[in-house]
Amino acid sequence: MTTCRLCGSSNLAGVLDLGATPPCERFLTEEMLGEPEITYPLHLRICADCRLAQIPPLITPEETFTEYAYFSSYSTSWVRHARAYVDDAVERLRPSFVVEVASNDGYLLRHVVERGIRCLGIEPSANVGRAAKEAGVPTRTAFLGPETGAAVRAEHGPADLVVANNVYAHVPDVVGFTEGLRALVADDGWVSIEVQHLLTLVELNQYDTIYHEHFQYYTVASARRALATGGLALVDVELLPTHGGSIRLWARPEDAAGEPSDRVVEVLDREKAAGLHDMSGYVEFADRVATLRRDLLRFLVDAAAEGRTVVGYGAPGKGNTLLNHCGIRPDLLRYTVDRNPYKHGRYTPGVRIPILPPERIALDRPDYVLVLPWNLREEITGQLAYVREWGGRLVFPIPALEVV
Ligand SMILES: [Zn+2]
Repeated sequence: MTTCRLCGSSNLAGVLDLGATPPCERFLTEEMLGEPEITYPLHLRICADCRLAQIPPLITPEETFTEYAYFSSYSTSWVRHARAYVDDAVERLRPSFVVEVASNDGYLLRHVVERGIRCLGIEPSANVGRAAKEAGVPTRTAFLGPETGAAVRAEHGPADLVVANNVYAHVPDVVGFTEGLRALVADDGWVSIEVQHLLTLVELNQYDTIYHEHFQYYTVASARRALATGGLALVDVELLPTHGGSIRLWARPEDAAGEPSDRVVEVLDREKAAGLHDMSGYVEFADRVATLRRDLLRFLVDAAAEGRTVVGYGAPGKGNTLLNHCGIRPDLLRYTVDRNPYKHGRYTPGVRIPILPPERIALDRPDYVLVLPWNLREEITGQLAYVREWGGRLVFPIPALEVV
């Protein structure tokens, strides 16, 4: 990568080099274990001119998302989050047509359908989109760009509300995607985007959320610049606890936008104070990540030496950055479990940890359970309460190693 994908500058500064890792959604079948696995360098850089944090687009979304393993409906808290969002947005905006981009298995739009409001999902993964259609959510299999946006507008009319959650980081052509959003939304409509916040990523050492499928990492300042490339203006921002810290950006076509809210000004001030509007906030990030890696490895090596068993909980994409960066193989982590049956019998990419159904934990009664989706700490602590019956303990690797 030689130039910034937002502003074209060649002034990119390295911030964190995580080595070379495989694509984090490429879970391996038994047969694939005998085949070579390609790894790609995972190096986060910041544009010194526009401050967009980015990694090179070495893996295209077409490679990742055509057949995708992630079904949002498997996360209880995620479904609850989507319902609360729909309740609030419908109440305030009274939309008559809602479009969701990257609508996954219809986990959000099914609440819109329930209310009798017209809607359409745009989802690139055929297998995930099929699940949405089966749940009664109209879904079009496509990636969003200016052409798809214009085609949907021509066929269905402009949308009063366009939702784009957990996708704005996943698009290497952020300018084309933003133009697609602008094509979808009515001239007096709203665009609502949820994306991870770079402020919490840096402050809480969430280095495992950096992976090949996430091409850019936003502050509110850099997101505002990205939105402007497609003719959208940032109006409001909410701070959310999802993914360990996300932002919900509310944007409108420039002519309808008006002044940004006080909340926008407040979050921009916090980012600036944290040194994220220049390079100073990134200086010690790599050192903190190195410390976290050593702490986790020391714990796992000691547990193995003492004959204690450690298994994992969850096989999220970010777990694969952590496992590969730290070099954790089945001698240190016997297996992990996941609620998604698609992953059962498969192996995590790179380090090849077997993935089993969650029931396996109660059968084996391990001494420690390493929680890879640490962002769902509360939900998972509840689900794993039974581990205490045999004196087992939970291990959280981020923001700092914690055994509870
Ligand atoms: Zn730039």
